[in-house]
Parts: sequence; C-alpha cells; structure tokens
Amino acid sequence: MIFLKTEDEIELMRAANQLVAATLAEVGKAVRPGVTTAELDRIAEEFIRDHGAEPTFKGFPNPYGGPFPGSICTSVNDVVVHGVPSPDTVLQEGDIISVDCGTLLNGYNGDSCYTFQVGEVSEEVKRLLRTTKEALYKGIETAVAGHRIGDIGYAVQSHCEAQGYGVVREFVGHGIGKEMHEDPQVPNYGRRGQGKQLKNGLCIAIEPMITQGTHEVYLMPDKWTVRTRDHRPAAHFEHTIAIHHGRADILSSFEEIEKMEAARSL
Ligand code: MG
Ligand code: MG
Repeated sequence: MIFLKTEDEIELMRAANQLVAATLAEVGKAVRPGVTTAELDRIAEEFIRDHGAEPTFKGFPNPYGGPFPGSICTSVNDVVVHGVPSPDTVLQEGDIISVDCGTLLNGYNGDSCYTFQVGEVSEEVKRLLRTTKEALYKGIETAVAGHRIGDIGYAVQSHCEAQGYGVVREFVGHGIGKEMHEDPQVPNYGRRGQGKQLKNGLCIAIEPMITQGTHEVYLMPDKWTVRTRDHRPAAHFEHTIAIHHGRADILSSFEEIEKMEAARSL
C-alpha cells in the first residue's frame, strides 16, 4: 500500500532527512586513513541521539540472522551495502566507503547514503563515484508527477550501463515515511512507462548501487555484508525525495559534504 504524504508530513520528512544529511557530513569529517568503521558508527549514533532522533538501522531485523548492530552501514570497497561497523575495519588510503544512514525523527524517517573517498583514490574509482552520483540525479530528474517508477530505473540503468558499469538487482530503492521501507519498490533498472505512476505526496528513496565489474553480489556469513562477486568496488548514493508540486523535491542533502570535499581538494 502506498501512503501519499500531506504538506505537513513532507516537512516532517524533510527534517528527518536534513538530520541524516548533517550526520553524514559529521561522519565525513572523520573519514581518513587509520579511522575504524566502529569509530564512524559511534560518531553517527551520538550525533543522531543528541538531535533527539533514533538511528533507524540500529537493531533493524534480519530474516536470516541477528539484528543490525550498528547505527550506520559502512560499506568499504567491494562491499556494496549493509557493511557492519567494526573496530577491526581500518580505512586505508585509496579506499572508498559508502555510509548509509537512517534516522527516525518525530515519527518520520530519513534515509540517505554517500560514498566517500579515503585520501586519494584512483581515477578509475573516481569515475565510478561520479557516474553513480550522476545516475542518482538522472533518476531524480525523471521523478515527476505522471511519470512511472520504471522511468526512474531506466534513467539510472541506461546512464551506468553506457559507461560499462553493473547495476545491482538484489537491492532497490523504496517508498519511505512512517516506515523506513514502504511501497513501492524503486529498482535501479527498468523500462520506460512501466510500473506505478508517480503522484504528488509520494516519498521515495532513490539509491543506485553501481559496480565497476559484474553486477553479481553475494551475502557474507554475517548475513548482512553484501560483496561484489568479482571483488571490484561498488558505489552507492541515495537521496530521499518527495513528489511535490509535480516535481522531485530532494529532502536529504549532500551540500555540506560537497563543500567539505571541494575544500579538501584545493
Ligand atoms: Mg539508505
Ligand atoms: Mg534506502
């Protein structure tokens, strides 16, 4: 069942997503060679709770195993999604890390993900990150009232596959609101004109998960960590948007992170 949001609900969703944006920026400040993913998790949890919200991912149930132990997912290099923060995972120069974050604030959910560079990464990896982020915005541009879910997937898939990248099939974007995962599913692949029609008040997370090599993935024995089959790197960028006045209104934000990245590269 799809729940369309009122104007007031869209503003509550914006608040939750702006807190996710601020949390990701806070985590991003700490991303550097030598830091552990457990330390990044600690920073995120403290920041979220200090702002009167709950980290939605903490304790998230898993039908195949135990609940998620962290407050964020920290997915390094060939980990596509759901990397579990650990004191044993130490970031190295040249790594990439996707930090996925969810907050529950005043009864509504925020959800966004950004793939950070650790120190200086290769040109090849930079291109993967750039293309994945571009694909996210191509999907968002397509998300206007009257279009369909398949238009979003088509925009993401065609952009990435044209560059020779893989599009992960097993994990998809989703409706979002009072629950972190609501209907409809929002795949990163699809056919134009197919699927549910987009209407004002629909809130969805669009989240391309794009691989440098094969799109095939597998689940680690911890029942959370998902890796690429060929161990080549994967990138993941996610925004939560509302269809609002006929167009995509981006409720999360990368603005603070991008300012930080621009300052670092000077
Ligand atoms: Mg997410
Ligand atoms: Mg999501």
